Amino acid sequence: MTKRILCLAGDGIGPEVMSAALQVLQRVIEQYQLPLELEHELVGGASIDAQGTPITDSVLKKAASADAVLLGAVGGPKWDQLPMEQRPEKGLLALRKHLDLFANLRPATVHPALAEASSLKSELVAGLDLLIIRELTGGIYFGQPRGVREENGERIGYNTYVYSETEIKRIAKVAFETAQKRNKKLCSVDKANVLEVTRLWREVVQNMSAEYPDVELTHMYVDNAAMQLVRYPKQFDVVLTGNMFGDILSDQAAMLTGSIGMLPSASLNAQNQGMYEPCHGSAPDIAGQGKANPLAMILSVAMMLKYSLSEAKAAATIEEAVYKTIDGGLRTADLNQDEWISTEEMAKAVINQLI
Ligand code: NAD
Repeated sequence: MTKRILCLAGDGIGPEVMSAALQVLQRVIEQYQLPLELEHELVGGASIDAQGTPITDSVLKKAASADAVLLGAVGGPKWDQLPMEQRPEKGLLALRKHLDLFANLRPATVHPALAEASSLKSELVAGLDLLIIRELTGGIYFGQPRGVREENGERIGYNTYVYSETEIKRIAKVAFETAQKRNKKLCSVDKANVLEVTRLWREVVQNMSAEYPDVELTHMYVDNAAMQLVRYPKQFDVVLTGNMFGDILSDQAAMLTGSIGMLPSASLNAQNQGMYEPCHGSAPDIAGQGKANPLAMILSVAMMLKYSLSEAKAAATIEEAVYKTIDGGLRTADLNQDEWISTEEMAKAVINQLI
């Protein structure tokens, strides 16, 4: 049965890395005779310019009926002055909410040949392979009530940190099952010594561990986790955490790898329908210069094939081609400012390594 992919290139370097990744996907489709159909739509600033809104209802509907969504990046200085509700990022949030993408998977892997690019000593990161699973649709970013109110002549800002048992269980299930397919180690990160909501988180995750006896579960406070990530990151396999802690820790983990241009991500719902995007933004500082590293977007395509389209072999072929290209010494400007190849050349180099 033909599966449908909705491609939303977005703004800045989004269309550049999307074009590169789709060239790779096209070659893999031919190689494996994959029954995939691609459709293209606007999101973010591009959609604001054309339709007056960061995402239209019709695009949201198409996303909901697609098997997977591929997204480049949104945003840029052109739209920075718009009110919060009309900004490009709202397109992304609307997609996450509409598709109920509660599980965000962000791998941080360091290919040995790129260990030098990390700000940590290369022996600490060479061969690193950790996966952060962040709850994406709950927690303090969405809790009500929220706002700024006047009280006794001054303004008070407030947000609510809330998780239900159902929300915790469904993200923990993804984490346990993912750990089972990897090195069977799961570290749940919370702040159970201070916050009641994360004490509940710890209790629920701990209780679920009885169903996954093959997975070694540990718990860590978020401040310690931040420290351990730079002290000895290879101790981690799968890290499970809530929305805000995951936001911070996954960016920290991204930096261990040297360049944000290498990191893919997946956001999944209960049906394994997913949105796949690089971790980076629209990089307006380099847009249009052929300097964008397309590997995060290409690796996002590989994640899509693996998690939403059940095409593990095609996914592995892309990953291997990326690593062979890196082993061959080719670099985009983010990884080597003295000797670099363009976005387009990198895509071609990866295609040449597909076997
Ligand atoms: P950014 O990730 O766009 O850029 C940060 C730095 O990393 C820049 O120096 C950029 O040149 C570099 N960089 C990023 N991706 C790269 C790549 N593939 N290859 C080479 N270098 C790369 O973050 P920012 O500068 O904070 O944000 C720029 C815009 O992107 C803002 O409008 C922001 O709101 C938006 N943004 C969007 C997303 C998204 O679409 N998911 C995520 C983050 C930021």
